[in-house]
Amino acid sequence: MSTTAPSIIIIGAGFSGLGMAMELRRNGFDDFTILERAAEPGGVWRENTYPGAACDVPSPLYSYSYAPKPDWPHRYSGAADILNYLESLAAENGLLERIRFGADVTEAAYDKSTGTWTVRIADGTHYTADVLISAVGQLARPQLPTIPGRERFEGPSFHSAQWDHTVDLSGKRVAVIGTGASAIQFVPAIQPRVARLTVFQRTAAWVVSRTDREYRPLHHALFRHVPGLRLAQRLWVWCFLEFFALGLADLPFLRRLVASLCRASLHREVRDPALRAALTPDYPVLCKRVLFSNDYYPALVQPNVDVVTTAIAEIVPEGVRTTDGVVHPADVIVYGTGFKGSEFLWPMRILGRDGVDLADAWTDGARAYLGMTVPHFPNMFLLYGPNTNLGIGSIVYMIECQSRYIRQALSHLTTHPGHTLEVTEQAARDFDTHTQRRLRRTPWSSCSSWYRDATGRITNNWPGTVTAYRLRTRTLHPTDYTLTPTPDHSRA
Ligand code: NAP
Repeated sequence: MSTTAPSIIIIGAGFSGLGMAMELRRNGFDDFTILERAAEPGGVWRENTYPGAACDVPSPLYSYSYAPKPDWPHRYSGAADILNYLESLAAENGLLERIRFGADVTEAAYDKSTGTWTVRIADGTHYTADVLISAVGQLARPQLPTIPGRERFEGPSFHSAQWDHTVDLSGKRVAVIGTGASAIQFVPAIQPRVARLTVFQRTAAWVVSRTDREYRPLHHALFRHVPGLRLAQRLWVWCFLEFFALGLADLPFLRRLVASLCRASLHREVRDPALRAALTPDYPVLCKRVLFSNDYYPALVQPNVDVVTTAIAEIVPEGVRTTDGVVHPADVIVYGTGFKGSEFLWPMRILGRDGVDLADAWTDGARAYLGMTVPHFPNMFLLYGPNTNLGIGSIVYMIECQSRYIRQALSHLTTHPGHTLEVTEQAARDFDTHTQRRLRRTPWSSCSSWYRDATGRITNNWPGTVTAYRLRTRTLHPTDYTLTPTPDHSRA
């Protein structure tokens, strides 16, 4: 890459930050630094170490197309295997030496006169670059519930994403609050060893069976030596997920198919009519994330498990009190209560052109052109930004689409040294209007979930298939952007 290539700061060394760095490396962009607040790479796959943590998207698709892993141990691999994949990629691609670990970014500010971004770290140091790329993810900050009395609980308590492995759950009475994608993985993992498991369910989840399989040495050899087989498998998973994703906005009748698959799982696994009724969702399928599990319902029917659907009134020193006055005793409480998904880059302060604060620009809800660029924030790009999360599909490929698109923007800047790129108000507004219009056709508007902000706006999800996103982002159209010379460069 020529010496006019821009310098780049990436915030975050999770799936998207590492993916962006590899895209840069693969295309000759070498002037980049990754700022990571933790001491290791891996993002959510480093943070989430709860028992049973795994990905419910099949591994052949939950990996970069250009970095296939022929030896996934399972179709649905565990968190440790995914973390291992990311760590290997970081090491093999020489990315570790580009990461400043322990760099907790507090602020990034754009300087109009130099056309550069200055990024401040909590320890007082700062970095400057031409381009700022945020790769902080949507699920990096755990959400603890605002249930009164939480601090009065006498025993250990922790969030699923901050699992306290020093607490031995064997023989303990454990209360689990929340029944989302995380809880349905750790509930079956801890149920056999606890004395009593009380699962507090506010909203029943739609759950469908999945068929996991172990990949043995023969599979690994075949995937390694017959690439066509590996690609065919990836294509099959892709088509399967894309078919169901069509049910989100385009082919609503497919939702009935998903609902009947879920109901069949429930009827097969749960015989007790009262428990079955309690576990039957009362909102449209696909509104919240459909969960994939073979062992969640079988765990709930075990004699040491209670599913409590009465609302929680408060946490008391000895357990959890529900609104019917019953105190459910517990030695340990685990919060599977999700993440602050709609806050995006917060609590970092991001100041764009003319000092515009991103928090103010997003007062009416986070939004970005193609989920990546925001008016008033030149040379700033977001990975896994607003409206790029998926209800069905592999977010890894979405990130890959974004990193390719951003790389095109960087190439454009390389051929126009001393300029900045800023998305036009018109392009951003048209995209947002179209996206929100399509989102109204999806089931996500019919219940509450982390996909929506406090006003009910769906800020997180992409309203279509991954293929549609790929086609939309395949080519960067310079007409969507304003190319502006920076004053200092013009004077030089
Ligand atoms: P989540 O899906 O947001 O679920 C949070 C759960 O906590 C819900 O059941 C929610 O109930 C409940 N809850 C929240 N506040 C509560 C309160 N004050 N009182 C009682 N219950 C409360 O969170 P998550 O399970 O951590 O999953 C978050 C996202 O992470 C997923 O949607 C997915 O994108 C990702 N994830 C992916 C995988 C994977 O395999 N790929 C695995 C885990 C997580 P309501 O439904 O009533 O709000």
